This record gives sequence, structure tokens and C-alpha cells, in this order.
Amino acid sequence: LLEVRGVTKTFGHGRRRLTALDGVDIRLGRGETLGLVGESGCGKSTLARVLLGLERPDAGTVRFDGTDPFALRGKDLLAWRRRVQMVFQDPFASLNARMSAADLIGEPWRTHRDVVPGAKAQDKRVRELLSLVGLRDSDAHRYPNEFSGGQRQRIGIARALALDPDLIVCDEPVSALDLSVQAQVLNVLSELRERLGVAYVFISHDLSVVRYIADRVTVMYLGKVIEHGETEDVFDHPRHPYTAALMSAAP
Ligand code: ATP
Ligand code: MG
Repeated sequence: LLEVRGVTKTFGHGRRRLTALDGVDIRLGRGETLGLVGESGCGKSTLARVLLGLERPDAGTVRFDGTDPFALRGKDLLAWRRRVQMVFQDPFASLNARMSAADLIGEPWRTHRDVVPGAKAQDKRVRELLSLVGLRDSDAHRYPNEFSGGQRQRIGIARALALDPDLIVCDEPVSALDLSVQAQVLNVLSELRERLGVAYVFISHDLSVVRYIADRVTVMYLGKVIEHGETEDVFDHPRHPYTAALMSAAP
């Protein structure tokens, strides 16, 4: 589904120049979950932005099913944008407080008019999406401030599903939530993977969360990938000293 090779991204100039990504390689198959870990500032969110097409790399290649998203224009670009969605850390910051849950979930349809369901079908689809993330029909007409943090994150997930994506980039999706709510939201995400076959790039500083959800793990350090492998392998037999230190520092 996704192949990233040698992606490099620098910010700033001269003495303020900073290499956020330095020759990063990742691969992801359909329906797979790749955990992305590493300390603050190692480049995880920058990589997420590259995958979403929001940040153009200085060097290296990104391929979705063989296609370079940065070479796409017009209709092709719009069609590709539908395939890759995102879920971010703070659901309240990313949800407009003046829109109902139904409005928020259907918001992506406004920029993708060629795939918008008809008016009646939209209501039905919103109810389907609510149920997929464990919310009720009656929640459609409530507003973000009437929901708990975990419920808001479910709305964010439902919205990410509105265009039937192949990949959802999750950047710290449960970090702002209480532990028991984290578990509920993680369950929703893993159920969606089973039911819809959606793939995730799952960024988290919480190793236990990554261990729970990821099939494979990529460890980054100062913009570089220093370790990559099956989740159990990386956790049980880290090859790089930094990974070993990261694992042993985890609770
Ligand atoms: P965290 O775990 O704290 O979220 P991260 O791994 O997501 O960290 P990034 O946000 O990708 O880290 O940042 C990587 C580096 O790139 C940091 O040093 C950051 O300051 C720098 N950086 C990111 N975006 C920009 C930007 N738009 N302009 C300048 N520097 C940036
Ligand atoms: Mg980040």
C-alpha cells in the first residue's frame, strides 16, 4: 500500500538548519498497522505530514500503490486525498465546536463532492459511522462540548472514515485520554481494522499502546530509522542500544 524510501526533510537555513527526517524508509501493506515510536522531536509528526501530502520531502520517494502523491494534480490528487485520512491527539482542537456530530462526520463530503452520498443516504451513512465507533444515533445532533474526550475522539475517527480511506495516520490518538478510555478507543481502532481492512500508521510515545496495536514497529532517533521489525521481536529482542534503552525506560 505504502512505500517510503530515503525521505529527507530539513527546516530552516544556515545555523538554524535542522534535519527533521534523514533518509527514512517505511513500508506498509493493506490492513497493516505500523507503530512509529521515538523520543520527542525525532520526526514522527513530520513524517505523518509527509504521508498526508502536507509536507513535501526534500529528497526520497513516497509511493501509494506505486503512485507518487506529490506528482498528482486536480481530480487525481483529490481522489488520492480521500484514501489517506488522519486522527490527531486532541479531538477538541480539531473539532469545530459549533458543528453537530453529524455535521462534523460529514464535513469531508464537502470537499469531495463527487463522492457525496445523497441527502437521505447521508443520514444513514452518519448513523452507520456512529455505530462503527460505538456511538448512538441520537448522538448525531449533539455538539462537541456535550461529549466526553473519548467520545470526541470517536467522532474524529468516524469523520476519518467518512471517505472510506485505505490508510489512517494516527498521531498520538489516545494520549490525551484517561487510561480506561484509551483502551476503549484502541478497541474501536482495532475493530475497524478487522471490519474494514483499514491500515494505520500509529504514532505514540506510549510503548504499551504500540505493543497492543501494531503489527510492526519502526523506531526513530534524530530523524533516522534505527530499528524496524515485527512488534514482538522489537520489544523482546531490540537490536539497537537506543531501542533497548527506550524499552527498559517504559513502565
Ligand atoms: P513529538 O513526540 O514531541 O510530537 P515528533 O517526533 O513528532 O515529536 P516533529 O514534530 O516531527 O517531532 O519534529 C521534528 C523536528 O523538526 C523538531 O526538532 C521540530 O522542532 C522540527 N520541526 C517540525 N516542524 C517544523 C517546522 N514547520 N519548522 C521548523 N522546524 C520544524
Ligand atoms: Mg509529534
